[in-house]
Amino acid sequence: MLSGNREWVDSKLKEDPEYFKTLAKGQSPEVLWIGCADSRVPANQVTGTNPGEVFVHRNIANVCVHTDMNMLSVLDYAVNVLKVKHVIVAGHYGCGGVAAALTNKQFGLIDNWLRHIKDVYRMHAHELDRISDQEAKVNRLVELNVIEQSYNLCKTTIIQNAWKERSDLEVHGWIVDINTGLIKDLKVSNNDSHSLGYVYEFNDDEVAVH
Ligand SMILES: [Zn+2]
Repeated sequence: MLSGNREWVDSKLKEDPEYFKTLAKGQSPEVLWIGCADSRVPANQVTGTNPGEVFVHRNIANVCVHTDMNMLSVLDYAVNVLKVKHVIVAGHYGCGGVAAALTNKQFGLIDNWLRHIKDVYRMHAHELDRISDQEAKVNRLVELNVIEQSYNLCKTTIIQNAWKERSDLEVHGWIVDINTGLIKDLKVSNNDSHSLGYVYEFNDDEVAVH
């Protein structure tokens, strides 16, 4: 890896002798990518983007939990300081974390993290229980997990307060198909609080829950 680093530095300098001087001046990425920690889905490589273009947070099975200070700090910094325009939750087919959540086996501490995906299963059991092929079931849960995690982001005060201030922030749900390398847009993009369901929408003018 260290010799790979030298080769990469040399190739970048050959293209542009000022490359690292420019990079060191600062970052202004327009995108926050929240993806899986799986080694096969690195954000920059799969999207053909360069250093400086994508702010990245990754965890097992791209779970967005409201009590995760790490994720919330990344989200707050990206949205309120870097002013990113797009937040993308990116899952991938064949996700080991999602597959593990579909079993009744214990894998260790991770079981407590994957519990959040079991909750997604519970919400969509009526659909998932009708799928007999295990691979198809995992991949559909991968999609539903991305959808629910992107909604989880929309439910945060961070995203909702940003939407009150500006109209150029969108939350998206994508899947990387590791069989082809291609990204599928699940078309669940959101840019306002209205579709979240009344109990989740923060609106100081109204008493939504009686
Ligand atoms: Zn994964």
